[in-house]
Amino acid sequence: MSEKDLAFVLDMDGVLYHGEQVLDGAVAFMERISAHSHVFLTNNPVLPPGRVADRLERLGFPRPDERLIVTSAEATAWWLAREKPGFRYFAVGANGLDAALREQGRADDANADFVVVGEGPGLDFESLTTGINLVLKKDARLVATNPDTTVDATRDGQHVVLPGGGALVAPFMAATGRQPVFIGKPGALLYELAMARIGVEPNQCVMIGDRPDTDIVGAVRLGMRTGLVRTGRFAPGEEYPADLPTPDWDVGSLRELADELEAAGVL
Ligand SMILES: [Mg+2]
Repeated sequence: MSEKDLAFVLDMDGVLYHGEQVLDGAVAFMERISAHSHVFLTNNPVLPPGRVADRLERLGFPRPDERLIVTSAEATAWWLAREKPGFRYFAVGANGLDAALREQGRADDANADFVVVGEGPGLDFESLTTGINLVLKKDARLVATNPDTTVDATRDGQHVVLPGGGALVAPFMAATGRQPVFIGKPGALLYELAMARIGVEPNQCVMIGDRPDTDIVGAVRLGMRTGLVRTGRFAPGEEYPADLPTPDWDVGSLRELADELEAAGVL
């Protein structure tokens, strides 16, 4: 396989945009790689792929095919269907999660096979009570869409930190003593579904992300090449964590990455 045939696996938040702000060189970068296979993936289970495509279009990117947008909610549905075809579930989280699960399974808060915890509103005393009873009395398995403890968001123009999937599943873990299966990055399942969508193997992929601890770690474990862009969680000049694998490219922006990939014969 030639370097010119590499496929791109792209994280979005902190790579292409921050909230409603498009990041430096992001639109031009997508144009530069348009002849390469590519797929977008996100640990965020809240928005369904169509809404993510709407957002990309609104921000000035060419609208991607919805099949090329893989969320942790979809990867969760895909994994549950593989574990137990026709699964029954109890979901805690915003609507995008339920929409994804409903495609492959059936909501059942009395006899669920899986208690699935996502992000966004949904966790309260009642849903926690239902979930822990399903786990403790019906032996339902605990599943979390993603392990992120916090999520950056914007409210009324101000940066705000929201609880992530890892924080929202914590009360279920405390009450049941069970460990959940985590679907999103750095676990392999989200990447596996993304690769299946475009028909590639890890050694044919470059993963581009902004977080060393999730985007880069997960991709390196699978054998992908990796590019860190320091436009999100990780800032330019910040020392790279010594205990994590080093990315193949470590750049300040997608503009810089495009130049480096061109010099390396990838673009
Ligand atoms: Mg990100």
